Amino acid sequence: MSSMALSNAFTFAPPPPSPQAEALRAEVRAFLRDALADRPPLARAESWNGWDADFSRALGARGWIGMTWPKKYGGHERSALERYVVLEEMLAAGAPVAAHWIADRQSGPLLLRLGTESQRADILPRIARGECYFCIGMSEPDSGSDLASVRTRAVPVADGYIVNGTKLWTSSAHQAHYMILFCRTPSNESPAADRHGGVSQLLVDLRTPGISIRPVHALTGEHHFNEVVFTDCHLPADALIGTQGDGWNQVTSELAYERSGPERFLSSFTLLTELVRALGKDPSDTATVALGRLAAHIMTLRRLSRSVAGMLQAGDNPALQAALVKDLGALVEQEVPEIARLLHAAEPDLAATRNYSAVLAYTMLHAPSFSLRGGTREILRGIIARGLGLR
Ligand SMILES: Cc1cc2nc3c(=O)[nH]c(=O)nc-3n(C[C@H](O)[C@H](O)[C@H](O)COP(=O)(O)OP(=O)(O)OC[C@H]3O[C@@H](n4cnc5c(N)ncnc54)[C@H](O)[C@@H]3O)c2cc1C
Repeated sequence: MSSMALSNAFTFAPPPPSPQAEALRAEVRAFLRDALADRPPLARAESWNGWDADFSRALGARGWIGMTWPKKYGGHERSALERYVVLEEMLAAGAPVAAHWIADRQSGPLLLRLGTESQRADILPRIARGECYFCIGMSEPDSGSDLASVRTRAVPVADGYIVNGTKLWTSSAHQAHYMILFCRTPSNESPAADRHGGVSQLLVDLRTPGISIRPVHALTGEHHFNEVVFTDCHLPADALIGTQGDGWNQVTSELAYERSGPERFLSSFTLLTELVRALGKDPSDTATVALGRLAAHIMTLRRLSRSVAGMLQAGDNPALQAALVKDLGALVEQEVPEIARLLHAAEPDLAATRNYSAVLAYTMLHAPSFSLRGGTREILRGIIARGLGLR
């Protein structure tokens, strides 16, 4: 690859300054100060896993969900940078945003781009009101990194599809209204040898008969993700999103939304805040240097991630840049608990009354997942290597 092509592949154009976005920041901060006044640090540490339907509805009422979508679908026609301000302020404050997060981040934009008029008109306004939640049905027991090997099948029949198969690690399936199901839709036109052909995305109402949702507990004992089993589940023909057989292109372009946001480098932010508090007003030189280094990393990641938001708004597909943001972001998120333990001696203890100890324990137990969820480190580096022309 020539150096010119290489530098184009990794362009991170700075987004233009946005006075509207900065004006919104003050409004969001004032809202969060009141709304989260009683939220303890351990709950804030849940970051974008914290679930609160009332809070999501309150954000919807303020116009802070579906912000960039057209008004006719319940959106607010604001810029990607205004949306970015809302996201980063929510995460920095440890607001409970999980209920609407996936729908706002990727399922809504997917429906906006490829959904039928009736899917858009029915669902997008409900997402924007903070009342309709989504989950992602990609991974399976034998298909995680190798997504093209999914085995769940939706066999086309006269009046729709019959689905059989199992999805795994499905975050929030037990609380969501819909799943975007990625599965095989076998047809005569897609030869079995074409791993990327003959796959599609279907909109699944999770109340449909033939779906069983079972909990999978995380290291902390929490119930965030699930196993979802489809047994002769009948979906209507209008469940199809986009084009039958084109699911691979559709799902890979969705990943740029999934991998580039501030949730990919702010998952440990509450611990960083508690660490600064624990170190007090006069930290050692070693602590000052370590904190300065972390802050510099976070500022750089923020700049990269805001740049991807600008590219998405411009209609580009910055999948490569998003992979880079997520890989670098996970490194920093995982470094925070390690550095915290070196700088401040305290036993990690979820049940501790001391905020620092409880938040440290929570973050340590979650940190291993940061470089798995949304695509593992090795897979992201494979994508980046391909972008560099090394594979
Ligand atoms: C907290 C959390 C939430 C999640 N939520 C969802 C969700 O809502 N929906 C959903 O669909 N999925 C979800 N996942 C699943 C996640 O996407 C998968 O765990 C991930 O894609 C990895 O797949 P796997 O677990 O099957 O691991 P595997 O693919 O089996 O990988 C195991 C190890 O092998 C490495 N590896 C695999 N292939 C290669 C290769 N070609 N080259 C080099 N190394 C390789 C991987 O990097 C990894 O270290 C979630 C996961 C977590 C941890």
